[in-house]
Amino acid sequence: MDISIVIPLYNEEESLPHLMEWISRVMDVQGTTYEVILVDDGSNDSSWQTIEGFIWKYPMVRGIKFRRNYGKSAALQVGFAAAQGEVVITMDADMQDSPEEIPELYRMIKNDGYDLVSGWKKKRRDPFFSKRLPSKMYNFTVRCITGIKLHDMNCGLKAYHRNVVKSIEVYGEMHRYIPVLARQAGFKRIGEKVVQHQERKFGSSKFGWERYINGFLDLMSVTFVSRFGKRPMHFFGTLGSLMFLSGGLIAIWLIASKIWAQAHHLKYRPVTDQPLFYIALVIAIIGVQFFMAGFIGELVSRSSADRNQYLIEKDTAEKL
Ligand code: UDP
Ligand code: MG
Repeated sequence: MDISIVIPLYNEEESLPHLMEWISRVMDVQGTTYEVILVDDGSNDSSWQTIEGFIWKYPMVRGIKFRRNYGKSAALQVGFAAAQGEVVITMDADMQDSPEEIPELYRMIKNDGYDLVSGWKKKRRDPFFSKRLPSKMYNFTVRCITGIKLHDMNCGLKAYHRNVVKSIEVYGEMHRYIPVLARQAGFKRIGEKVVQHQERKFGSSKFGWERYINGFLDLMSVTFVSRFGKRPMHFFGTLGSLMFLSGGLIAIWLIASKIWAQAHHLKYRPVTDQPLFYIALVIAIIGVQFFMAGFIGELVSRSSADRNQYLIEKDTAEKL
């Protein structure tokens, strides 16, 4: 199988027939074999009935339905697990992404050697204040923090080499950061392609303003996990030790200078009259707490199932 097209969907009954028609119109003339995996993320409209109806008309369709709405990341992860193609394409079900891009995306993965190609909705057909402007600021922040130079990190239209989707785990709402997860797994050839973007004709967007708050918190998590996930003590331990030491040194200095002044019969203030002493105590206590958090983090990461799982790219023993 050459291509797997994975499409997460939630209440997209009106778009689906048009989308499938468009995909098969583009793909059937390509000479590549393909499958379409429609993951119904617990829709409560007639999306699933529509998908079941496809089975007769489009033999390359596979439908998977969740019992309830788990979110786009979960739908993608299940689609990735089911995908059999050498190249995996993801796209939204709302017809905002164009299937016409698929052949070129496929070519970029197959021939240009990219691990992952992300779409870039350069001319975006979405409202300015609620989507385009915040998205620009968001992408700028993500570029600065992750160092991955993509203009449109969270574009639904992306292409992957099979190895990428089989190596990463998209959990929570991490579908926004798949390129970060891929790079973390060692896939560095990440490309970008300008893609066509349509206005949403049917249904409504499934994400509101909270996407930016959740997205920002997830950005913190994903960068933290990628740097210190396997060695939490290095982060918390360093921070904790530094705080404990500085708090301790300030306290010792305050006490010592009081004793010194006392010994030389100079004027002095009792240590407990000085605000700085309490600040020093608080800093030291928080430092100890950070240290403990590091210990607990180590215990958790020690007992995680994948603590000793590594992605092996090549092995001479496997050569024929
Ligand atoms: N989606 C999903 N589960 C959800 C929310 C959304 O599978 O809980 C799908 C949705 O059906 C669509 C894609 O994710 O195919 C992108 O959603 P949407 O178009 O609402 O996002 P936007 O274009 O506003 O970023
Ligand atoms: Mg959309």
